[in-house]
Amino acid sequence: MNREPSERVDVCVVGAGPAGSLMADRLAERGHDVVVLEAGPRFDSEDRERRMERDIRPAHGPDSVWEMGGARDAYESSGERHYPLNAARVKGVGGSTLHWQGMVMRLHEQDFRVESETGVGADWPIAYDDLKPYYADAEDAFGVAGASDNPFAPPREEPHPLPAFPPSYSDSLFAEACEELGIAMHSVPNARLSESRDDRSACVGYGTCKPVCPSGAKYDATIHVERAEERGVHVIDRAPVQRLEHGDAGERVTAAVYATPEGEEHRQAAREFVLAAGGVENPRLLLLSESEQYPDGLANSSGAVGKYFMDHLFAGVGGTLDEPTRQNHVGFNTSETHQFYDRPDDSRGAIKLEFLNYAGPSPAEMALSGDNWGDEMLDRIRANYGTHVAVGALVEQQPRKENRIRLDPETTDDHGNPVPDVVWSLSDYERRTVERANEIQRRILDELGADVTWTVGPDSTGPAFHHMGTTRMGDDPADSVVDAQLRTHDLSNLTVASSSVFPTGGAMNPTLTIAALALKAADHVDERL
Ligand SMILES: Cc1cc2nc3c(=O)[nH]c(=O)nc-3n(C[C@H](O)[C@H](O)[C@H](O)COP(=O)(O)OP(=O)(O)OC[C@H]3O[C@@H](n4cnc5c(N)ncnc54)[C@H](O)[C@@H]3O)c2cc1C
Ligand code: SF4
Repeated sequence: MNREPSERVDVCVVGAGPAGSLMADRLAERGHDVVVLEAGPRFDSEDRERRMERDIRPAHGPDSVWEMGGARDAYESSGERHYPLNAARVKGVGGSTLHWQGMVMRLHEQDFRVESETGVGADWPIAYDDLKPYYADAEDAFGVAGASDNPFAPPREEPHPLPAFPPSYSDSLFAEACEELGIAMHSVPNARLSESRDDRSACVGYGTCKPVCPSGAKYDATIHVERAEERGVHVIDRAPVQRLEHGDAGERVTAAVYATPEGEEHRQAAREFVLAAGGVENPRLLLLSESEQYPDGLANSSGAVGKYFMDHLFAGVGGTLDEPTRQNHVGFNTSETHQFYDRPDDSRGAIKLEFLNYAGPSPAEMALSGDNWGDEMLDRIRANYGTHVAVGALVEQQPRKENRIRLDPETTDDHGNPVPDVVWSLSDYERRTVERANEIQRRILDELGADVTWTVGPDSTGPAFHHMGTTRMGDDPADSVVDAQLRTHDLSNLTVASSSVFPTGGAMNPTLTIAALALKAADHVDERL
């Protein structure tokens, strides 16, 4: 493929995940010439069934499905808690949506003004109403299946593009227990097709959505990459950007310098640049782009680049019932409750409760991981499959300076660049919120009469793989990196698109908000061109 830079380009986008591909598609639709530089390869969609099989076989770790690992993806994790970075991202055309689960919720109105209401965290420089029309656009772009049955959801004007998936069998068991406890369950908006759309088929229930949907019913960003290419966008894969260069005055980015597999280095010039390389690589690239004028990294006059790293914490309680619960028939969640989401005061963060449909091992996993065959294997599967239940949760983290992405000068990647070091820890506030989630989960399982066999609490919690906060948005250039339009305070033609701009993370899965913000930012870039 031609990996030469294009001569006259309006916009250069770095990264072909959902943020980059949606912006590229929208800007091309408005008539602009766009080039996308993507670090990873273009995966062949014909290959997806093989990748799904690879995931099911125990010999392969989950990172190998989308070929993460090796010198390209080297990283350090030097914080109080280990951060498994390569399980939390995919490098390739489509980005991490190749691996994602596809749960897509809007943030609540309180998320945008949480500091004013509770004194904890930070306010956003925009309100929910500023994003509302873009949320609707993003839901249309993703083809979201959902219902307007959530009494806690922020106001919306239009129904979801596709009907919601029906509640699973185990949801009906939970429904009785939750009714007793006064907990309102509702549907989950899913970025997977409940009906066929364009030339894509409806979900056929392979159940392997995370890390690969072989049918293509689950949305991934290759859809917008292809659409953008049809509009004339030039997408160059295996072209990791090494650094961004700026002009003499230091006010504008002039080029993105990228490497090719042939060992060459090229400079792509453009009028506007969009950094959409994800929540870890966005700050890393800015830090790698240090210059004489900007010795602490580009767009970093605030010193905030890389700081305030957040993820969502997982909390969960699971066990077994003495009746069938039909787990793993559906590869995604169908019911949740946002009843414990809004914070009453400064005592705890947001909690989003999920009624899991994949508690306990699937029959295929059990068959492949045991060492017996025939009737013995069947007996083992019958004895252990199908009676599990679990309630999971996403729990909010606070934006704290000490949690950060920084460069590790001791280790370099395959191009000699310092790797990212993820410094990650938990605060008492977050521990309290995980404990509160566990209490609610425990009450539900007790009401159900379950034999509780495991709990993921504050000491055993892990990340949900949502990188946020590292190039935060704000009105004050002294403590934020980008403004309300996602344009960096320091460089007038550099936009950052990703959850890296979130000032706070809430507890909703982030990608619908990433998409809404990207579409809004595309409007601002379009206005400037
Ligand atoms: C297992 C898993 C489950 C998830 N489930 C959900 C879910 O249910 N709901 C939800 O909302 N979110 C979920 N997420 C998170 C979601 O995938 C991300 O929020 C989303 O993909 C981020 O989009 P992005 O475009 O900002 O970044 P990415 O998707 O990370 O894309 C960034 C792209 O930039 C490229 N890149 C990086 N560095 C460079 C460089 N130097 N030069 C050129 N290109 C570069 C990368 O290769 C990548 O393709 C999940 C993630 C994982 C891993
Ligand atoms: S359950 Fe549906 S979305 Fe998930 S992998 Fe199967 S077809 Fe794809």
